[in-house]
Amino acid sequence: MGEERLATYSRNVFIPLTNACRNRCGYCAFRSEKPGLLSRTRVRAILEEGARHGCKEALFTLGERPEVHPAIRAELRSMGYATVIEYLYDLCLEAKDLGLLPHTNAGVVDRAELKALGEVNASLGLMLESISERLCGHGMPHEGCPGKWPPARLEVLEEAGRLRIPFTTGILVGIGESYDEVIASLEAIKELHNRHGHIQEVIIQNFKPKRGTPMASVPEPSPLLLLKVFAVARAMLPGIGIQTPPNLNSHWNLTLLYGANDLGGISPVTVDHINPEAPWPGLAGLRQRAADVGFRLRERLPIYPGFVLRGWYPEALGDLVVDATDGSGLVREG
Ligand code: SF4
Repeated sequence: MGEERLATYSRNVFIPLTNACRNRCGYCAFRSEKPGLLSRTRVRAILEEGARHGCKEALFTLGERPEVHPAIRAELRSMGYATVIEYLYDLCLEAKDLGLLPHTNAGVVDRAELKALGEVNASLGLMLESISERLCGHGMPHEGCPGKWPPARLEVLEEAGRLRIPFTTGILVGIGESYDEVIASLEAIKELHNRHGHIQEVIIQNFKPKRGTPMASVPEPSPLLLLKVFAVARAMLPGIGIQTPPNLNSHWNLTLLYGANDLGGISPVTVDHINPEAPWPGLAGLRQRAADVGFRLRERLPIYPGFVLRGWYPEALGDLVVDATDGSGLVREG
């Protein structure tokens, strides 16, 4: 019998902290001109529900620098916070107290913020999306998005490496980049990892057009192109997890044969608030479709097994990480 092939996922709750954002990506349906901010009570209720359903990850997702919006700034101030990162820090501690490991996607943040978040998160995430500065030009998807300027994102990824924070990044395929730019993006991620060893996974996310956005009529990338990108990413990034999002890529189980080995966060409790039109398939169905191509699903924490084994997690989360994992760094079975 050949060696068992594993694909991993993380059982999570998705907390869309705020849909205020300083950027205006042409494909985004999450950002709102009349944004809200989840109260501590609401966040706690989501966390408690996640804990009841055996979730191990609290995924905090938010627009970038939401305090540029006066209403959000005022709300934060009324709670005693100057920035959303200060609020997040306390919410991460709350998640930890309920037995959940935080993973935060906060967009472009500065070194002090990164350091603070690193103290209370099992890992952090920031999609590179694309190295292409061209996509920030007039009429392009990242026009009017200071946080999508590739050097700004690379600097955050670099700083996270200096701080030894396990990091999730990724590329968005199909937003107008060329194939050479896809390769250049993967190359940039590889170089970062070669310098710091901190990239735990790379998400290969396919663009999906959303109603009501400027890119609503742009076609999705072809399944064949995606398979090619998975294969190239696998070859370029040995030892790094390659994530395929099963609610966005209907051929996700084929991508396992082309190098993907992770399905990302799967929630039994919450929807994908960034892509609410795309529900997560149930775990039983995922297991079956993975088995169809010869893979067995295993649960992981929001920190990848290699980083668990190397002890790359903050002291505050040490007990939770150790209690949840077996000798392989994956979540203990049974
Ligand atoms: S940075 Fe994220 S939340 Fe903000 S507009 Fe772009 S996709 Fe939307």
